[in-house]
Amino acid sequence: MIDICLLGATGSIGQSTLEVIRLHPEKFRIRALTANTDIDGLVAQISEFKPSFAVIADVSLEQELRNRVETELPDLEIQILSGACALQTVAEDKDTHTVVAAIVGAAGLLPTLAAVKAGKRVLLANKEALVCAGRLFISEVERSGAELLPLDSEHNAIFQCLPKDQQYQPKVRRILLTASGGPFRGYTKDELSKVTPEQAFLHPNWEMGKKISVDSATLMNKGLELIEACWLFGVSPETIEILVHPQSIIHSLVEFDDGSQLAQLGTPNMCTPIAHGLGYPDRISSGSSYLDLCNGPNLSFEKPDIETFDCLRIAIEAAKKGGSYPLFLNAANEIAVQAFIEGKIKITEIAFLVEKTLNFATEREPVSIDEVIELDGIARQHCFDCLQEMS
Ligand code: NAD
Ligand code: MG
Repeated sequence: MIDICLLGATGSIGQSTLEVIRLHPEKFRIRALTANTDIDGLVAQISEFKPSFAVIADVSLEQELRNRVETELPDLEIQILSGACALQTVAEDKDTHTVVAAIVGAAGLLPTLAAVKAGKRVLLANKEALVCAGRLFISEVERSGAELLPLDSEHNAIFQCLPKDQQYQPKVRRILLTASGGPFRGYTKDELSKVTPEQAFLHPNWEMGKKISVDSATLMNKGLELIEACWLFGVSPETIEILVHPQSIIHSLVEFDDGSQLAQLGTPNMCTPIAHGLGYPDRISSGSSYLDLCNGPNLSFEKPDIETFDCLRIAIEAAKKGGSYPLFLNAANEIAVQAFIEGKIKITEIAFLVEKTLNFATEREPVSIDEVIELDGIARQHCFDCLQEMS
């Protein structure tokens, strides 16, 4: 039995993880479930999976969660905790083998890092953690011997295409990071400026949380993924080429010196990379449908439109500059995306706010996690100030 801590259980990745786990009750046991505010979702999951721990990140909701569990599940033995520190407590718990990092945003950094420091197998969906603190994060992985497996579909594909023989690691010539292009592919900047949050939430191929849906619509998601890939696979931004592939069937490719390009294909369903991570190195069923290439869509490819989608251009520049640029990029993007979701700004103003905030970034990389947290706060404040000036 593999004991699992699921950080961000009530979200899209959290729910897909539970879908896969539901198929393998003899292999996996849920030890901890965490959520931010979604008490109804969490109580339903507690009732089904009977974890030893449940954490609600929002402290003001702890009593309500306790009351609900005591009345609805009176016989259940469970410890209920709350707050950001409790997320770290369950992530590093000695009886947990695998931690699924599925919190959205920089809020996932400390609990994910706690799992890494404790030497867990960490299945990483929370790309923002790597964007914020890449070098510090990866050096902790190397120090602790944690096993880091990517769940992001593109990174999971790249991981699957790379040789596993530690003795022989041929040079990767190029990584082709695929992108669907999002719901507004082909739009002009003027058309893009008029879209609503509801339109942005409707991704053509994937069902995801709101923040990543907006990131996919602006192509910021691909920029964050480029930075994520640099840290995961130890390559420079110049090694990575973004390839728009609207059908999301090929999940990314790796090119070697001999001219071979290796790809991983599958229907667009996050249960596939999640099952890959949970079962690794074994292959377990995911519940995803199998690809039928004869009856599926024709596969097409094009270059990304970085003239219209400023966020991607800005993110690539931030990746190349390094230092605190990726951290400021992520912090400002989180604030700006929230402002767009709340109807305060246009989608095209996300790039404006991020670019303004990046004026305060420097080429010096933060040297500690405390500094990352401090700079993240500073970047958010700068972004808020710019937002204030706009209104
Ligand atoms: P989501 O919004 O659906 O879920 C987020 C989860 O995090 C929820 O359980 C929520 O309760 C929790 N959470 C949010 N804020 C929190 C906070 N401050 N403290 C503690 N918990 C908090 O998001 P998602 O779509 O599941 O994405 C999760 C992560 O996975 C993101 O980093 C995203 O980029 C990445 N990812 C998602 C997909 C996808 O298909 N959804 C694909 C690849 C990568
Ligand atoms: Mg992805």
